Amino acid sequence: MEYVLSTNHLCKEYRHFKALNNLSMHVPKGAIYGLVGKNGAGKTTVIRLICGLQKPTSGNYTLYGTQNTDKRILEVQRRIGAVVETPSIYLDMTAADNLKEQYRILGLPSFADIPELLKLVGLENTGKKKAKNFSLGMRQRLGIALALAGSPDMLMLDEPINGLDPQGIIEIRELILKLNRERQITVIISSHILDELSRLATHYGFIDNGTMLKEITAKEVETNCRKCTQVTVTETSVLAYVLDIMNFEYDILSDTQANVYGDIPISVLVLALEKENCQVLSMHELDESLESYYINLIGGSHNE
Ligand code: ATP
Repeated sequence: MEYVLSTNHLCKEYRHFKALNNLSMHVPKGAIYGLVGKNGAGKTTVIRLICGLQKPTSGNYTLYGTQNTDKRILEVQRRIGAVVETPSIYLDMTAADNLKEQYRILGLPSFADIPELLKLVGLENTGKKKAKNFSLGMRQRLGIALALAGSPDMLMLDEPINGLDPQGIIEIRELILKLNRERQITVIISSHILDELSRLATHYGFIDNGTMLKEITAKEVETNCRKCTQVTVTETSVLAYVLDIMNFEYDILSDTQANVYGDIPISVLVLALEKENCQVLSMHELDESLESYYINLIGGSHNE
């Protein structure tokens, strides 16, 4: 597996407080990597360290094959675009002027691709409107456009959808997918909005108290989530009797409803119930989400 970023025992201390504690993280090339953790888990700290805004207390990381202790790391960090916390934009300037300023700061020789960049983030029609009159979603997209100046290979977005309305969330989601699919940009997104993250991420890193609890692919999350089918029958006591014989796990919800876990052979179950004079009235699969996976994981770590 080719990792564009890997960290090794990464630690960051603020006085005696360990914001990151031996963090180990691996981001494959082309991934949309969801960095998941509650408030204060250390997500922003990771992003700050990798972008070079802060230095680790100990441990190291390798970015595009270069270790952070190598002086060439500054050059490699130019391959990263980032929006950390709120986007740094000049509120009294238009979107195009903000971009021109960013191009000047980066020493980019020409403004020629600014119109294309504005189009990419959906701000091509903002004309003379100043950023202070933008919606939150527009400001966030301008922040991403600024991060894209210099055509980075990796984008780090810290809580990019916090506070956005549903339309704003969809726009950011579509933009991230487009950048990943069409421009092959590896994306790291920190978030605690799991439902939204699950529509985007190909990989996850679950972080708690500055430590990586688990790294897992989206596919693995899917297979790890226990399949659950909600079954409505005429009598759950009969269902329980049959499921015990078939050796299936279940939770009885009422006299007529139960959740059954695992891959149930539907026709075998229906026939077995019929023999006991019990009818199946309905069956539907429940979607066990990323959220329940996360809660189990965090719960597990706190119960240790
Ligand atoms: P949030 O979702 O709230 O942004 P986070 O996961 O991004 O949380 P961090 O901002 O990385 O968390 O902070 C991790 C821990 O380090 C927190 O307990 C925070 O209070 C602490 N911390 C962060 N920056 C500093 C600092 N400059 N000085 C002291 N403590 C800090």
